[in-house]
Amino acid sequence: MRIDIITVLPQLLESPFQHSILKRAIEKGLAEVNLINLRDYSTHKQKSVDDYAFGGGAGMVMGIEPIANCINALKSQRTYDEVIYTSPDGELLNQKMSNHLSTLNNIIILCGHYKGVDERVREHLITKEISIGDYVLSGGELAAAVICDSIIRIIPGAISDETSALTDSFQDNLLAPPVYTRPAEFNGWKVPDVLLSGHTKNIEEWRHEQSLERTKQRRPDILE
Ligand code: SAH
Repeated sequence: MRIDIITVLPQLLESPFQHSILKRAIEKGLAEVNLINLRDYSTHKQKSVDDYAFGGGAGMVMGIEPIANCINALKSQRTYDEVIYTSPDGELLNQKMSNHLSTLNNIIILCGHYKGVDERVREHLITKEISIGDYVLSGGELAAAVICDSIIRIIPGAISDETSALTDSFQDNLLAPPVYTRPAEFNGWKVPDVLLSGHTKNIEEWRHEQSLERTKQRRPDILE
């Protein structure tokens, strides 16, 4: 899949794609991420992309012109499945949404800044608005990184042991069971016997029970 991220701070988004699972997925050609500097589409001498809000009040607003120029330039090259705006009042990101987005071919993610973008951008150019939580960030870049990470890691082939992503929390509406590694005992704190038993069926059953128990205790809201 191809993800085009429109931002005024492309440098802020370089590192998240240069490590670990995302780096490997990009190297394998499973995902392509392009950082597009919105300032390149500004018609101002100073390359500014924001202006004072009509009606007054504190905070600058990102204008529609550079954003429209940028999105239209991208759209003239290929068809996009979604043009996403990161916004605290958008639909809350969850695993189901990430699973769906990971099946798309081409998406744009627009990162806001300052007070946000001119409302006409949202009305006419954006097809989907996503929030990563009920708090306000300084800009959409970290939200875009979170969205991309959650999408790219589940593209088949991105994680070497493919079943691993499917047993993570929220797949199947369950939280993940506890995990342990060596040593089998530390400070007298022991790993549950069943995990050392080598009995695959019992281990699977134990993990499922633990998932269920943990979900009931911590997130009864996601249990169907
Ligand atoms: N004035 C806006 C907040 C602007 S914050 C309001 O009160 O709703 C600046 C930018 O950061 C936003 O345009 C958006 O792109 C991004 N952003 C902030 N919080 C976010 C969140 N929880 N999820 C996704 N993007 C967010």
